Amino acid sequence: MKRIIIASGNKGKIKEIKEFFRDYEVVAYTDLISPIEIEENGSTFKENAIIKAKAIYEKLPNNIILADDSGISVEALNGEPGIYSARYAGINASDKDNLYKLINELKKRKLKISPAFYTAAIAIATPFGVFTTHGFLRGDVIDEARGKKGFGYDPMFIPKGFNKTLGELDEEIKQKISHRNKALSLAKIIIEILNTKIN
Ligand code: IMP
Repeated sequence: MKRIIIASGNKGKIKEIKEFFRDYEVVAYTDLISPIEIEENGSTFKENAIIKAKAIYEKLPNNIILADDSGISVEALNGEPGIYSARYAGINASDKDNLYKLINELKKRKLKISPAFYTAAIAIATPFGVFTTHGFLRGDVIDEARGKKGFGYDPMFIPKGFNKTLGELDEEIKQKISHRNKALSLAKIIIEILNTKIN
């Protein structure tokens, strides 16, 4: 079973996950069934990832379902937006709305820069149970958007050790250092072990 079903409709994430699992068939669940409304009412990234993976596993049992829940936490804002990153500017906010809301929150406090970090939690729902992994990327957020690469908050995020935002840096660099890829590397180990049990 070399198929992984992604429990997300987010194009940016699906692209990154597809690039990561090049030797797997990676499909978005929305390519198989109609989109479903999943209430992400957990209190951590991990809980929300598990909620999403289990919801899709119920609809598509006996598959490997991979869900990611991620976001950015800003020190000067006491960890906000955190698990609310996707809906920071409101329920139906776009990535751009959320980006400029966070920029404005820094501006309101006259902050040009603040330490921040991305978190990615991955949940894998499988016939053998649910497994989770995490990855983090530390850096700073700044009070302006620079560059058009990446997605979400990337144009305002400067990873530690760099002087450009993820909006400006090559996508290959993001692939190497990203929170999602760190969590995915661990998830891959789990999936490979499970595949030896299935085949
Ligand atoms: P989720 O789909 O509920 O996991 O929401 C993730 C939120 O965090 C979205 O608003 C994304 O824009 C943001 N986010 C997560 N990972 C990244 C990233 O790698 N770059 C930029 N924004 C991200």
